[in-house]
Amino acid sequence: MISSLIEHAATFHADTEIVSRPPEGHLRRTTWSQVRDQSKQVANALAELGINQGDRIATLAWNSDRHLTLYFGVSGAGAVMHTVNPRLFVEQIVYIINHAEDRVLFFDTTFAPLVGQLAGELSSVETYVVMTDREHMPDIPGLPEGRLRCWEGFIGGQSTHYDWPEFDERSASSLCYTSGTTGNPKGVLYSHRSTMLHTLMIAARDAIDIHSGSRILLVVPMFHANAWGTPYTAAMVGATLVMPGPHLDGESVYNLMKSEGVNQSQGVPTVWMMLFSYLDEHPEIDPHELGLRVAGTGGAALPQSMIERFDREFGAESMQGWGMTETSPLCVIGRLLPKHEGLSDEERTQIRLKQGRGIWGVDLKIVDDDGNRLPWDGKAFGEVWVRGPWIASGYFKGEGGEKLDAEGYFPTGDVATIDPDGYLQLVDRAKDVIKSGGEWVSSIDLENAAMGHPAVAEAAVIGVPHPKWQERPVLIAVLRKGCSATREELLEYLAGEVVKWWLPDDVVFVDELPHTATGKVVKLKLREQYRDHRLPG
Ligand code: ADP
Repeated sequence: MISSLIEHAATFHADTEIVSRPPEGHLRRTTWSQVRDQSKQVANALAELGINQGDRIATLAWNSDRHLTLYFGVSGAGAVMHTVNPRLFVEQIVYIINHAEDRVLFFDTTFAPLVGQLAGELSSVETYVVMTDREHMPDIPGLPEGRLRCWEGFIGGQSTHYDWPEFDERSASSLCYTSGTTGNPKGVLYSHRSTMLHTLMIAARDAIDIHSGSRILLVVPMFHANAWGTPYTAAMVGATLVMPGPHLDGESVYNLMKSEGVNQSQGVPTVWMMLFSYLDEHPEIDPHELGLRVAGTGGAALPQSMIERFDREFGAESMQGWGMTETSPLCVIGRLLPKHEGLSDEERTQIRLKQGRGIWGVDLKIVDDDGNRLPWDGKAFGEVWVRGPWIASGYFKGEGGEKLDAEGYFPTGDVATIDPDGYLQLVDRAKDVIKSGGEWVSSIDLENAAMGHPAVAEAAVIGVPHPKWQERPVLIAVLRKGCSATREELLEYLAGEVVKWWLPDDVVFVDELPHTATGKVVKLKLREQYRDHRLPG
């Protein structure tokens, strides 16, 4: 039961701090024991509303102690915690909440205008709770008092006594929709059992390595695959969580890391790029002062330039994991082995660029177009399929049909190699792969190489149609503030990094790249935008 996590944290790590910076701006300090008490108040309040086991409860919220309280209060009571990604299109949010048939919607003040806009279209939501105090309570026309509640009022009068129910561990605990570039979003339903097994594994030293001494800045949103499972693991081991709320700009992130003595952090590479660009503007700051030990990344490839900058300027190890919403998400983790100790920095970096090795519980295979297993030689590449107790078998309400193959593996849509040590290295997402003259060009490798140029802040490589080669790669680059570089300079630089026939046929400079709600570059949009791009020559 997920409730066992919060009970453990409150019993053995009662005074360990949870620090939040909610939308209202001030810092709020609570403890695991207060989070437990409040989660029991939430459970009592939900019972009063007549919420039953299996009912879905939605959130539109940033990372905070209150969101954390709901993680335990909702799932602990046997209801299903449905974290909605507020960065999706309005129509998608309406679709998701109606599809999930959420009965209660908890939201931050930031989203009051959005909720005002949506409420008329939400068919199942009976009660709306703003996660704020009375003083900051927004007025939402169209939502009468009674249906619109304030967090303080909602849980304030409730008892902190509540006996967590015991039920089948395979019961649903949380729900998260994937943003999918085509079609409607699809829901992934997690169970107490899948969550607890995933939680156990990610705490491990060779996985994310979370323990009671960890002071974790949780930048990855709690609406993104349960913040990679960290809220649960932090409770299991009594780690300190530092929650940035909506304040994700470089300056806010830096200051929060500094004031709270953060030694571990987790977020998508885009967030670290924002931090780097703040530091570019403030050369007087020495990030060594933070004492950051590990910067964990996922959701997109960890660029070489980022590994080197964390090493050099922070004295911190950056490390990536790979997985997806459908896999809870952690499947593989990019850590070095003892046998790599004698290698040069450059050789070690090359290994850290690989997404990593499977953790216990996850079986991996790469297959060709006919479904035949490919060898783990670091060269052959094919689609990755995964199997394990925290891998989905399909989508909520059966959308999209049965997903597993005869052996019980789930298709990830990612293309990778696996080397003899078991390191998986992503070549591309199947739909982003560039096919040139019948051979594949890895956009991930090219992007990584381009980001190694000192003037490049972010890069995307896409295939554009070519009369002879079918497709040729084009590099779309965002330059670092105050830096300049020409097309020729970048191509010359890349010529020293990748094989000749991979060299992009053109370079386009843009001010920014389009990102998805989960921080990935929207390649599909770029491909459409540059479909008619005239290649030089
Ligand atoms: P969505 O599928 O909606 O974009 P997910 O967060 O589930 O959202 O994204 C999972 C995908 O993100 C993976 O299938 C993979 O393509 C990409 N991804 C995750 N981790 C990494 C990583 N370390 N390196 C490269 N790509 C990654």
